[in-house]
This record gives sequence, C-alpha cells and structure tokens, in this order.
Amino acid sequence: ISSSATASLDDLEADIRRRNPGEPEFHQAVHEVLETLGPVLDSRPELREAKMIERIAEPERQLIFRVPWQDDRGEIHVNRGFRVEFNSALGPYKGGLRFHPSVNLGIVKFLAFEQIFKNALTGLGIGAGKGGSDFDPRGRTDTEVMRFCQSFMTELHRHLGEHTDVPAGDIGVGGREIGFLFGQYRRITNRWEAGVLTGKGTGWGGSHVRPEATGYGNVLFTAEMLKVRGEQLAGQQVSVSGSGNVALYTVEKAQELGAHVRTVSDSTGYVVDDKGIDLPLLKQIKEAERGRVSDYASRRGASARFVPGGSVWEVPTDVALPSATQNELTADDAAALVSNGVKAVSEGANMPTTPAAVRILREAGVAFGPGKAANAGGVATSALEMRQNAARDSWSAPRVEEELAQVMRAVHDTAYETAARYGRPGDYVTGANIAGFERVADAMLAQGLI
Ligand code: GLU
Repeated sequence: ISSSATASLDDLEADIRRRNPGEPEFHQAVHEVLETLGPVLDSRPELREAKMIERIAEPERQLIFRVPWQDDRGEIHVNRGFRVEFNSALGPYKGGLRFHPSVNLGIVKFLAFEQIFKNALTGLGIGAGKGGSDFDPRGRTDTEVMRFCQSFMTELHRHLGEHTDVPAGDIGVGGREIGFLFGQYRRITNRWEAGVLTGKGTGWGGSHVRPEATGYGNVLFTAEMLKVRGEQLAGQQVSVSGSGNVALYTVEKAQELGAHVRTVSDSTGYVVDDKGIDLPLLKQIKEAERGRVSDYASRRGASARFVPGGSVWEVPTDVALPSATQNELTADDAAALVSNGVKAVSEGANMPTTPAAVRILREAGVAFGPGKAANAGGVATSALEMRQNAARDSWSAPRVEEELAQVMRAVHDTAYETAARYGRPGDYVTGANIAGFERVADAMLAQGLI
C-alpha cells in the first residue's frame, strides 16, 4: 500500500477494496469498522503514521487447501478448506470453523476481521482467525462427517497449536465435529494437546457452558443495554431468528430471565408461537433429530404456526436477537421492527444486520448491540476453556457462568464508556470498534514493525 500517512479513511478503504476484489462481505465488515475510527485516528496521529489501518486490514496469513473425502457409497468429493490467520498481536489466532456451502475466502476474511475486535474486547489475550469449508453437512451421515473432518484436519493440523492457532465451532461445526477434528489432530501429532481446539466435550477437556455461551452472552449484553435505559428484560417480548446453537441458548437464557420468546427460524421460514417457544421440544427437534423448525410447528399444536419463506422480523416485538447468519436483517426488516416499537436489537450472529438496517435502527433511537460486543461470550468462554486446559483444571458450570457474566458486563461497559468518551453516547458500534482497535493497535505499536 502506497498511501501517505495522511491518506483519508475513504482512500484507505478504496485501496482495501481494490486489493481484495470480489469479497463483498469483507468490504462490508471493513467499512463498518473504518467509518467509526475517524475520532481515534484524529486524536492519535501516531497510529496513522504507523499505518495501523493498512496493517490491521491485511491478514498475517491466509490458507486455502484441498479437502478430498469419500461418501458412504464410495463416491469421491472435493471441497475447499480455509483458515485466515488474521492477527496475533494479543494471543494465538482464535476463532471458529464454519462448514456451509456459502463459505468462500471473502466470508472467512470478514469473519476473521470481526474476530480481531471482538476478541480484543474480551480482554482475555486472544488473537483472531477464522476458517471453514464449503462442505455441506446437511443430510450427511455421522461417518461422512467424520471422514470429512479427518481429511480437513489432515491438512490443517500443521498450522495449529495451543500457542499458535486455536479453532472452535461456528455454523455447521458443533460438538460432534470438534470431536472428530480433535481425534484426528491427536492421532497425527501424537499429542494430547487440549488447548488446540475449544468446544470440546466436557469429559475430555471441554468447558462447561461453552455450548451455551454465545446465546447466553448476547442475552446478558441485551439486559445490560436495557438497564442503561432504565428497563429490564423480564416481561419483554423477544424475537429470535435462527435455530442453531446460538439461537437455542438465546431462547434458554431469555426465558430464564423472564422474557417471552415467540419466534425462531431457519432458511425455509419462521415459527411464531403465541404461548412462547417450547424449548425442550425445539431442542429435541434441532439437536437430537437435526430437523427443521417447520417440524416444531407441526408437533407443537395450536399455539404455533410456521410461515414459509417469511421474514421473522415482521412479527411485532420489543427485543430482536438476530442469531442466524450475516445480512439476515435488512433495511425493510429494520423499518418494520421500528414501526412496531422495537426497543433493542442485539446481534447473536456475526454481522446479521445490514449497514442500511443499522442506520435505520440508530436514527430511531433503538439500542443496538453489534456482534463484536454482543456475541463475544462464545469466544470469551473458549478463552476460559483454554485457561482450564493450560492449568489441567475443570471449573464447575456456575463458576464458568459467573466468569462469562463478568466478561459480558465488562464488554458492555467498555463499549459504552468508549462511545461516551468519543462523543457518541449510546453508540455501541463506535465504542466496540474503537476500544477493540486501540487494544490491538497499541500491542502492534509496542511489538515493532511486524
Ligand atoms: N464462532 C464463534 C464466534 O463467532 C466462536 C469462536 C471461538 O470460540 O473461537 O465468535
């Protein structure tokens, strides 16, 4: 990059777009960060001189690899594997693996880029990475998923290590996949290295509350945002989108705190349940049977209906917790939520709200929790798992939950106070971006030109 120290943020962003063609999600994630960093770059010219934006926007390393595997009928398939090791100024690369047909380099880069600021905000000493594959686990048997995971890890293992790069789950990667990946890592390396992956089973190095942590954390973050406004979560109507790991445990914690959760969704449509989501039934269908939310509606009885193809955000609600995937909550959705009187929107998924939707929510005065802060509970609990592994220790569930609650309060307060300090009270987007950026940039400054 040839920009001078005084190049405008717009010029820097244009340069980043030019150098990373065909990656709209990455461009979007970069834009969402850069548009908030003006004040900190103005007040700290040394960060501009050190070319901190240019350096942070360039991944330290990007891996793309072939993943060949055989299905149960003996047919050969070839998928593509990715790991973007984006930034290790604060600790080993840390972030999940996503197995979904939509995965490509640009999506992995957007996710890894978000992870830089999110992980920094947790204050737990973790760098940032993300990976995955365009493999589609849906409809595959356990043995097919196992063979895929073994092939994926056969290549990836040489890049991992408890002090180097520590993957976890994301969409399409849960406890089953982490088990297969860990087994293959152990076999190839001949090392029982618990800290190389997080999201492990609790009987073999995993942490209690890790599966629940992202959803729980987002609900705790939302409760903090409401508290600042003199409200509480109890008694509020809550809409959740998605029906994967994040969504399920968002429903669980919101119900525990006394909210009325009426919706979940998947790529085929959404369910609205006037009696409130029956969580044991939903878990049975999604976790045990790997089924669809339409099955929930047909088994639940009269209180629930399935709306095929509809947007879950057309249902009036007080609090919206998008927990499915990127760009699922559009400008039209935001306008519908606002006209129905929504008070808070908080991102359980990564970048589920489009930039135009964020603008509409902000202008309407809705409390908005960006994923970098609101969904940091998952990766934070991964860091707690790494801490337990390093100490060869295992904490009780209540202890992990208490630590998670403390981290989420700290993440909230850091974002809130940073926003106020830079003249944007209540703007958690700016607060989270600036606070995360400063932590990473300061570490990079101190560590020299690397
Ligand atoms: N995939 C999760 C995230 O988006 C968790 C990553 C981790 O635990 O390393 O933050």
